[in-house]
Amino acid sequence: MSSEYTKMIVGIDDTDSRDGMCTTYLCALLRDELSSYAKTVSDPILVRLNPTIPYKTRGNASVALFLECDEPEKVMDHVIRKVASMACMENENTNPGIVFITDDQFEKVRKTLSDFFRHAVKEVITIDEAKELVSGLGLKFKTFKNGRGLIGALSACGAMLSQDWDHTYEYIAYRKLEVCGTPRFVDGDSLFEADRQTYPDTWDTVDLKNEMVVCVPHAGDPVLYGIRGKDAYSVEKAVSFIRSEPVERVCIYRTNQGTDMHLISASTISDIQEMHSYILEGQVCCEPKTIRGGHTIFSLKDSAGDTIDCAAFEPTKNFRELIRKLIPGDRIVVYGSVTERTVNIEKIKIIGLSPKYEVRNPLCPSCGKRMKSAGSDQGYRCRKCGTSSMVTERSEVKREIGIGFYEVPPCARRHLAKQLLRFEKDELPVFAGR
Ligand code: ATP
Repeated sequence: MSSEYTKMIVGIDDTDSRDGMCTTYLCALLRDELSSYAKTVSDPILVRLNPTIPYKTRGNASVALFLECDEPEKVMDHVIRKVASMACMENENTNPGIVFITDDQFEKVRKTLSDFFRHAVKEVITIDEAKELVSGLGLKFKTFKNGRGLIGALSACGAMLSQDWDHTYEYIAYRKLEVCGTPRFVDGDSLFEADRQTYPDTWDTVDLKNEMVVCVPHAGDPVLYGIRGKDAYSVEKAVSFIRSEPVERVCIYRTNQGTDMHLISASTISDIQEMHSYILEGQVCCEPKTIRGGHTIFSLKDSAGDTIDCAAFEPTKNFRELIRKLIPGDRIVVYGSVTERTVNIEKIKIIGLSPKYEVRNPLCPSCGKRMKSAGSDQGYRCRKCGTSSMVTERSEVKREIGIGFYEVPPCARRHLAKQLLRFEKDELPVFAGR
């Protein structure tokens, strides 16, 4: 590299559709293609933004590369041509955006873009806001179609520019393009072995309780598998146990997955807005009900008396059994995203259990046998002794759940949700969902 080198951050988003492609694949491909005239300075970034955004293809991901190069114009030209040729432009919901930031701009834009990144993880941003920002900061950018991808591209650049956010790592192995769309081959036993050898330094590779592989997607995109963990060493170690079909390329990303970065602390239900994600404390105020489709729903009341529905949807599997054990009066903290006035629960902290009573017919004071109902509003009578009583017997029964922190199983984990194993020792017992 000559002394005339330039450091450059490239942010890219919104290139894929449900039928194919994946923005992370484009990132890995560009890193490799650019390697002859640009050096990668730090791990590529994969950030997950607001999980409730309706335009997302799957996990609302965006990516950024940090490069060092002699000829920035050549790099920019290469990236733009590649995105133009590989993005699923025919798809209505694919609206690519690319942002380029050179090192002479880093200091000027660092704070603004870092704030923008945090905002995009929690809030809803308009395309106009992103366009105004990129022009106002004087950044080079390229958009295609309505340019919505600019929001994610700016956010990924903001993440690359700021180091002070909690992060984890993901190792993604990509398939050879010619086999994309066919069933994937990743040996299941080798994934369970990889998990045994590296958990809890890696996580969400498999789901032990539900006996499922979690890290292999099923769509037509080029991702073969993704191994998540606390550092690059651990994810690489897990991969050394995996047997699979041939891999075209791999990339290790620094990511905000598993950090709860999307959650906002809400003090009251009246503060809650659609398409945002919250930590909310309240009291269970009705028996959980399981509705058609297998979703379990209950209502939560805050100190002001306002209520909101909370749901453990069918894909959360065994987690619903825990939710069904809640009773009115239990004090809990729920963590999850709000859409259609319902919190989609990612985890729950049970902080107070209400006593549960069993109501039974009273015992006969003479013979000790249980009395029978004497008819509506007429109390109870002992058939043998003829004694009667108007008082039912109420006895406290043991609750089948305990105070503590519970999470959905790995098979239902949302990208941003922080695994309980990543929490500092909590004052409450922790029940990992695997
Ligand atoms: P994949 O995970 O397969 O890469 P995706 O789920 O990331 O796909 P995209 O195709 O990137 O989905 O679409 C998400 C779109 O939403 C992008 O255009 C992105 O810029 C935009 N977006 C991201 N965060 C926000 C936000 N907070 N407010 C508004 N728009 C957003």
